[in-house]
Amino acid sequence: MGSHASDCLNKNQRIAFVPTMGALHEGHLALMRTARQHGDCVVVSIFVNPKQFNDPSDFKKYARDLDGDLKKCREVGVDCVFAPSESEIYPQHEKTKPVPLPEVAKPLEGVARPGHFQGVADVVSRLFTIVQPQSAVFGMKDYQQVRVIEEMVKEQKRNVKIIRHPTIREPDGLAMSSRNARLSSSGRKNALIIFKSLATAQSIVTTGERNRERVLQSVLNMLKSESGVKVDYVAVVDAINLKENPHQNVPWLVSIAAFVEGVRLIDNCILAPSQVKNSG
Ligand code: AMP
Repeated sequence: MGSHASDCLNKNQRIAFVPTMGALHEGHLALMRTARQHGDCVVVSIFVNPKQFNDPSDFKKYARDLDGDLKKCREVGVDCVFAPSESEIYPQHEKTKPVPLPEVAKPLEGVARPGHFQGVADVVSRLFTIVQPQSAVFGMKDYQQVRVIEEMVKEQKRNVKIIRHPTIREPDGLAMSSRNARLSSSGRKNALIIFKSLATAQSIVTTGERNRERVLQSVLNMLKSESGVKVDYVAVVDAINLKENPHQNVPWLVSIAAFVEGVRLIDNCILAPSQVKNSG
């Protein structure tokens, strides 16, 4: 990637960065358009990071389409695509220490996918060092990932502004994901219960339910009503520290991980303090 990005650096241009694993969809492209508002030079990385897959068969099955991705990046006006090889990111001769993980990496995905966030933190840290961005855009679909990166950047005292981007959804509400392509049309329909459960959580909290356990149970019951969906976990936690005793005046995170036709999907919503305050 060197020359174009270093051109940007030489010209003192601000680099806005979007790290991805490719198989790009509208969600990724929205991040790129937002990056454009934050930098003179938009850099996108495409790297299917083996270290963040706790399941080797998931890594193998992960969709890859570099030619299609490059075309999409061009259409969106990305200045530079960095699609490194594994040895560029993890040079054999360089012994790199794992990045220390913040507390927010421990629950939820941290429990369900051991090693996942170590892989994410290591690769993002390495990419930040190579790309040297002033800002980087991350999607709220992977909310815990955003929190991990925000804390990592603070810990490493990096001068990178982390920009949160809302989740981009299909017209019926399903969160866009590179993994959706592996669903059959009936699996695709079953998967919609994930979004519907989040919408229910939102609506029962908005209409007065303040009990975390009851919110959790409603989401679980709804998910379990769809036989084609196998729940991995549901959590209702403090959206800042991701702990299970959310205060009424902090936002709550409702987070779901579930398997549909063996494909692991995640989604979440954030309930603002105004929706969860006045606990009885
Ligand atoms: P991935 O290629 O899945 O690693 O995702 C790369 C970036 O795109 C991450 O910051 C994701 O959170 C973000 N992303 C993926 N899907 C969506 C979506 N539906 N809406 C918004 N951002 C997304």
